[in-house]
Amino acid sequence: MAEAIHTPIAYLKGIGPEKAALLKKELNVATYWDLLNHFPFRYIDRSMVATCRSIPESDGHIQLEGYVDSLQELGAGRAKRLQCRFCDDTGSIQLIWFQGWRWIKPTLVPGKKFRIFGRPKLNGAFWSIAHPEISTADEQQVTGYQPIYPSTEKLSAKGLHSRGIEKMTKSILAKVAIDDLTDRLPEDLREKNKLVGYATAIRNIHTPNTEEDFVEAKRRFVFEELFLLQLEMLLRKGLRKRTEQGYTFTKTGKNLADLYHHKLPFDLTEAQKKVIREIHQDMKTGEPMNRLLQGDVGSGKTLVALITMLIAQGNGFQSALLAPTEILANQHFETISALLSDLPINVALLTGSVKRSLRKPILSGLQDGEINFLVGTHALLEDEVQFSNLGLVVIDEQHRFGVAQRAKMRGKSSLSPHVLVMTATPIPRTLAMTFYGDLDVSVIDELPPGRKPIKTMHRFESHRPQLYQFMQEQISLGRQIYIVYPLIAESETLDFKNLEDGFQTISEAFPLPKYQVSMVHGKLRPEEKDREMQRFVEGTTNIMVATTVIEVGVNVPNASVMVIESAQRFGLSQLHQLRGRVGRGADKSYCILMTDYELSKESKKRMDTMTETNDGFKIAEVDLKLRGPGDLMGTQQSGSLNLKIADLSKDQAMVIQAREDAIALYSSDPKLASPSRKNLRNLMVQLFKNKPQWDKIG
Ligand code: ADP
Ligand code: MG
Repeated sequence: MAEAIHTPIAYLKGIGPEKAALLKKELNVATYWDLLNHFPFRYIDRSMVATCRSIPESDGHIQLEGYVDSLQELGAGRAKRLQCRFCDDTGSIQLIWFQGWRWIKPTLVPGKKFRIFGRPKLNGAFWSIAHPEISTADEQQVTGYQPIYPSTEKLSAKGLHSRGIEKMTKSILAKVAIDDLTDRLPEDLREKNKLVGYATAIRNIHTPNTEEDFVEAKRRFVFEELFLLQLEMLLRKGLRKRTEQGYTFTKTGKNLADLYHHKLPFDLTEAQKKVIREIHQDMKTGEPMNRLLQGDVGSGKTLVALITMLIAQGNGFQSALLAPTEILANQHFETISALLSDLPINVALLTGSVKRSLRKPILSGLQDGEINFLVGTHALLEDEVQFSNLGLVVIDEQHRFGVAQRAKMRGKSSLSPHVLVMTATPIPRTLAMTFYGDLDVSVIDELPPGRKPIKTMHRFESHRPQLYQFMQEQISLGRQIYIVYPLIAESETLDFKNLEDGFQTISEAFPLPKYQVSMVHGKLRPEEKDREMQRFVEGTTNIMVATTVIEVGVNVPNASVMVIESAQRFGLSQLHQLRGRVGRGADKSYCILMTDYELSKESKKRMDTMTETNDGFKIAEVDLKLRGPGDLMGTQQSGSLNLKIADLSKDQAMVIQAREDAIALYSSDPKLASPSRKNLRNLMVQLFKNKPQWDKIG
């Protein structure tokens, strides 16, 4: 019986190979099963019949029962339309057809009873419905909730709009024995979370009788999706622990001691010490470390990374530090080289722009173990980059490296190297669970001492004179200022013009010789960029006009003012990153967000959040609610998760519950060996089959 559900969709009456191919292409639906798993995204209540007098103001579909009173053909040619008055006991509304009226007209017998269904619009004082569905009172009526399915233009053109999909789904439901299908979720788990069974859920998500029906069905599928994801990550993690052998780093080494006692100009924060202990603990066990390091902007993650690398070096191993951009890689290279000067450690930089002739010695230095630390970008992933003994990979992630890249780096070592992933800005706990659920987590929850909170202000164009005055005051106190212009992704030229105009205006308001202004943007050659940056770092220039190239990496403690132009164009985490460029010295620092007067509700919320808090974790929570996980994690990475029904910004409580339950189930039965886990186990084996990097489970 159960096999019937895997029948190719082409065999369904009225479908055939052509529509089947389109369904596959547009919705990735190939079988009956696939279509049953193509869920509606909303429902329309068809049990309610409204009256002409009390049409609800809400922007949705309604039903009316009544009769046609008068019919009129209006206009001519293409503008021709059919219009009629539709009455019930309480009043009347207008129905309009712009197309197909020739077929409709004969059916609209005046005085006959009809039920109509459509979306009313208010034209002046009169309600009207264009192209309503009509049925006579003796036809079978649609009752209960009507599901609305996602479809596409191409499918709709072939009659597979929501209604078409609904019909197909209903005929499959009538054909296959859903009740014979086994539930993948174990019964105890279903009971604990009061989840409806699989068969009921499938039926109710497609053909609900009550609102509770579809709400509960959806709840079950959301839980199932999140639970399976969590379980998969736990299995993956367990598998790694059982099958991958790691290096045991018990020592810390002389170089770390030298850095710590003689070279570091400050003490580590308690939070930094705590996470370093957690990291070192991992490295001692003989299992490969897989740890996520979270910390707010400026919390000192780089130093933690460096110390971790020194531990690897102290045990005779090489380290690689992977950054998402060249600017950031350069910055890390410089910071690390400076801190390690005089210590017998070789650091190399490898990015896409390192010339072939310079690559050679780096590649051979890596192979013969001459180079201890390699800092770089995606270029490190290339096959020609081979190490003598890679013991640690640090990924300064900015959400751009996925599981596959992590696996690729892991492959560059005979045993599995330790892996430390750092996020650039905090991400909410539920997202970390979902995207990095296979990693252990350390959090730096404290900033280095002496940082004064940055005062953030939101200002409009009319305040520009005051802004300039404030900037002059700050400069006369010896401070430096950033002014950042947004990148307009669609048009680099426009982007550049925006920046150049800004530079022009600023140069006029802050004229030579009293003031020095420099400009940095993506179009500059690396040497020019470096020169401009250097002039600012040295304090030669007072103002740095820039695009977001300065978002990451730049560290100029004397800069105390960050002005962000057209701030409404930036996302919250980007604004927070930019703000993190100031407040690095002991001076009171300011961030000024300049925007248009007219702001969308969402932009207003972003500006308010920035002025209200400096806490990156709080900002990340707001960001998740405003933008959803796709924008926050980068669409590429969030797309790779392929969540079908769960919504990470709305289902946060469910994420936590699913994780707890997955952990409980996994720790009591890591091989899913008990008979009640049989279906779950089969499913997981199936899943892991399609992911070659991870073998079979159990
Ligand atoms: P992020 O976590 O954003 O990567 P960084 O590692 O760039 O932060 O550190 C920000 C600044 O704080 C750097 O200038 C760094 O030298 C400094 N810093 C790091 N740790 C400490 C500490 N314990 N005490 C004082 N300053 C520190
Ligand atoms: Mg950093």
